Amino acid sequence: MVFSSRTTVKNGKELIKNVFYFQEDAMLDCNVYCIVDHETDEIALFDAGNGISLKALIEGMKKFDLQFENITKVLLTHEHVDHVLGIYPLTKILKDTPPQIYAYGRTADILRNGDESQIFPRGLGITPKMLGLEIVPLNVIDLKEHKEFKINSEFTFQIHYTPGHSIGSVSYYESSQKLLIPGDLVFCGGSFGRFDFPGSSLTSLQKSIKQVNDLDVKYLLPGHMSISDNGNQQIQLSYRMVMSISDFR
Ligand SMILES: [Zn+2]
Repeated sequence: MVFSSRTTVKNGKELIKNVFYFQEDAMLDCNVYCIVDHETDEIALFDAGNGISLKALIEGMKKFDLQFENITKVLLTHEHVDHVLGIYPLTKILKDTPPQIYAYGRTADILRNGDESQIFPRGLGITPKMLGLEIVPLNVIDLKEHKEFKINSEFTFQIHYTPGHSIGSVSYYESSQKLLIPGDLVFCGGSFGRFDFPGSSLTSLQKSIKQVNDLDVKYLLPGHMSISDNGNQQIQLSYRMVMSISDFR
């Protein structure tokens, strides 16, 4: 294998009861979140990382007594490599009890078709083989037909379609815990998702950030960098920044 994970155990943190954060690896990886159903011990994993970091995630989860065998659902925020590749080794090691995979629209289509060229955009300079991965068609539930996603009485996530960074981007919002998982839409410190990928759009990004700016958010749990328990203030910052730029391309 050309690449290997830089960390052997992912740093984790229990943010609130049954909500866990695992920090991204240094190389083309993403933050992942585990939400545990206290009634069944089942785990919903939000984003899957880059695949080579899966071992480190599994080790990190053990520190909190979370068993990867209990991952029954994987919810993806969008179709980019650093967020989706982990599902391939994960479904392989859980082949007898594969988790249900949820994604929105375009993201769901790409994964259903196992479309390698979409999952590995040209110019990135890496192939599945280099990562020791095999891209296979997957069963994916399209969130387009769902307004919300219920884990149990504690967690019901609203599905907000928030394109801009990519066409298939969604944000997951839990209103009672005031939790937002926006993928690469907004980050802490006033930053926001890149909009120079195929399928990106600054106008959509601005609209989508406006949409999440209207939500009541305490915990902002983005796909990269740090997290915040002062969500609205962070989103407001990103909103101001994104509205102040114009597209010069
Ligand atoms: Zn992305």
